[in-house]
Amino acid sequence: MIDKTDALRMIRDQILALEASPLYAYRTENKFFPVIGEGSHNAAVMVIGEAPGENEARQGRPFVGASGRLLDELLAEIDLRREDIYITNVVKDRPPENRNPHKKEVAIYAPFLEQQIALIQPRILVTLGRFALEFVAARYAPDVTAPRITQLHGQALPGTAPYGSIHILPLFHPAVALYDPTQKGILSADFRALQSLLSGLT
Ligand code: URA
Repeated sequence: MIDKTDALRMIRDQILALEASPLYAYRTENKFFPVIGEGSHNAAVMVIGEAPGENEARQGRPFVGASGRLLDELLAEIDLRREDIYITNVVKDRPPENRNPHKKEVAIYAPFLEQQIALIQPRILVTLGRFALEFVAARYAPDVTAPRITQLHGQALPGTAPYGSIHILPLFHPAVALYDPTQKGILSADFRALQSLLSGLT
């Protein structure tokens, strides 16, 4: 039987070779890297963003730009470090000029995220922004139709993964607080909801 780390490496190799992706040519033309994800392979918490930005695609690491610095700050406020969790994105390659991912792009990368979730088996899926919420709710909480982040942020939704029941915690994307600093307080409060969910895990 192959172990979890080997299985995660296989996912990385498949994404590296994903010539069928509409974002593959943009990746190679710009010498970008795909961003697979990083952190603990036994994490109870998986943080799921939308897609890599330029800094991420240059380094092949999630959330290393301005949004990432804010994410680190928000995690530190609740005594979490990146190494304690797993951080990834729905779409693994950078869309040109950080435009919203297209449906086709979400569809081609979705199986990889689903496999990462099935292997790491997090108890809490934290979605950052609308795209991650829509994807995660559709797969793991299909009864929640048309989830609206403005209504749901900071409130855990019950979900079902192949390995058991999970919590889905929709949060605003940290980028919103970069454009509108008044949002930072909302994000901080919503991260405290993550802290209490974590402390309640049995
Ligand atoms: N925004 C995202 O959604 N993901 C990243 O990795 C970086 C910025």
